[in-house]
Amino acid sequence: MNPDCIFCKIVRGEAPAAILYQDEQAVAFKDIAARAPVHVLIVPRLHIPSAAEVTEEHAALIGHLIAVAAQVAREQGIAQTGYRLVTNVGREGGQEIFHLHWHLLGGRQLRSLG
Ligand code: AMP
Ligand code: ZN
Repeated sequence: MNPDCIFCKIVRGEAPAAILYQDEQAVAFKDIAARAPVHVLIVPRLHIPSAAEVTEEHAALIGHLIAVAAQVAREQGIAQTGYRLVTNVGREGGQEIFHLHWHLLGGRQLRSLG
């Protein structure tokens, strides 16, 4: 728990969010500034600043987060058409919130990364 972290506040129910899924380890909620018809953030309850701080100890947790993302994608109806799972790391990676999260984006054709 980082008292200054908005995602820590959301997972503790201390800040509002449109939560789509939650369990003991993970929470998924709608991005407040959606860039696609489906734009969901999947976060661990544990405060890890970014993927750069992930260690082998987190392996099961990271696997669980990806499984949660796949489940949310099915529930949101984009599993068949496809989607993108992205985690931004650091300033040049475009990271704004330093609590590990995956963006689940879908519901429209996404441009290639090239
Ligand atoms: P990133 O740039 O990868 O750190 O992504 C942070 C994302 O969090 C952005 O897409 C924001 O729109 C989103 N965001 C910021 N604050 C909130 C919030 N209170 N509830 C939901 N999404 C948020
Ligand atoms: Zn946090």
